[in-house]
Amino acid sequence: MPSANTAAAPASPPGAFVISLDFEINWGVRDQQTLAQYGAHLRGVRAAVPAMLALFAEYGLHVTWATVGLLFFGTKAELLAHLPAVQPAYADANMSPYRALDEVGPDEATDPYHFGRSLIAEIRATPHQEMASHTYCHYYCLERGQTVEAFEHDLGMAAQVAAEHGLRLESLVFPRNQYNASYLSACAAAGITSYRGNEASWIYKERSEEQQALYKRGARLLDAYVNLSGQHTARWADMAASFPFNIPASRFLRPWSGRLKVLEGLRLRRILAGMEHAARHGEIYHLWWHPHNFGMNLTENMAVLRQIATHFRALQARYGMLSLSMSEVATRLLAISTAASA
Ligand SMILES: [Zn+2]
Repeated sequence: MPSANTAAAPASPPGAFVISLDFEINWGVRDQQTLAQYGAHLRGVRAAVPAMLALFAEYGLHVTWATVGLLFFGTKAELLAHLPAVQPAYADANMSPYRALDEVGPDEATDPYHFGRSLIAEIRATPHQEMASHTYCHYYCLERGQTVEAFEHDLGMAAQVAAEHGLRLESLVFPRNQYNASYLSACAAAGITSYRGNEASWIYKERSEEQQALYKRGARLLDAYVNLSGQHTARWADMAASFPFNIPASRFLRPWSGRLKVLEGLRLRRILAGMEHAARHGEIYHLWWHPHNFGMNLTENMAVLRQIATHFRALQARYGMLSLSMSEVATRLLAISTAASA
C-alpha cells in the first residue's frame, strides 16, 4: 500500500446524476393549500410513486427519497405515540402540524394524505433507493419563533422512528429549502452526512416565506426555460470542502404544464443541457421535485422523466456518468476529503 506521501491524488470521480425527491404528501403543503384545492394532486401520489419506482428500476437510477418522518406510520395511534418533546413554536402557529392533528384520519386506508407506510415499503423494496430525511414535521429552519433546540428534537425523533424501521437517515433536505448554516452542527450530531443546498444564484437564495419577493419568483420561472443563471452543476472538490457535505440543487423539475405547453421543449432542453455539462466536466447535476408534482398529468410527467432517463443513459455510455444517491455522493466525498487531508 503506498504511503500518504507518495500516493497520487485520487482521480476525481466522473460526473454524476443525482435525483432527490421531497416526499411529504399533505405535511408539506397543509399550511398553504386546502385539501379542496390540492387534494387531487396529493391523492395522485399513490399512482405517481409506483410509476416513478418502475422507471427508476428500469434505468438503474439511484434516488434519494427525502421523507417527512410523520409519513412513516400506518395509524394515527402510532403517530400520536411519537411526538417530539419540544415542538417548533412558530410565530405563525398555522405552520406547526402539531396544531392540526385533529385533521388526521385513523389510518392510511381512510386518509391518503397523512400516512405513507405502504409507499415507504414500496420504495424500500426497489433497488438503489435511499430513504432520507425531509425532517420529522416538515420543519422550517428560517421561520420566526422556532429554535435550534426544537430542530434538534425534530431530527432526533426522525432518527428514532427511522431506527424503529431498521433505517439510518444520512441525507437531509431542508423543507421549503430553508437552509440554515447555524443548524448544520445539529444535523451532523443527528448523523446527517449531506444536505441539498440551494442553487448558487441570488434568485434561489434561501428566504423565509414572508421575505419571498415576487420578482424573484418571476426570475426563477423564467430561468426554468432559458439559461438565465447558469447550469448549477457542482464540483467534487468544492463539495468535499465542508461537512456535512453540501450537494447543491441544480434544478427543480417543474410539473408538466398544459398552460405553458409551447415552453415545455425549452424546459426539458434546459435540464438535458445541464446534465450534459456535468457529464462532460466530471461534475454533479442534481435534479429534484416532489412526488405530488406528478400527482396530476402523470402520463405527461412520466414522458418527460423518461426522456431525462434516456438522456442519462446516453451520457452514461459516452462519458461514464454515474447515477448516485446523496449518501453515495457523500461516501465518495468523504474519500476525497480524507485523501486531501492525509
Ligand atoms: Zn417539502
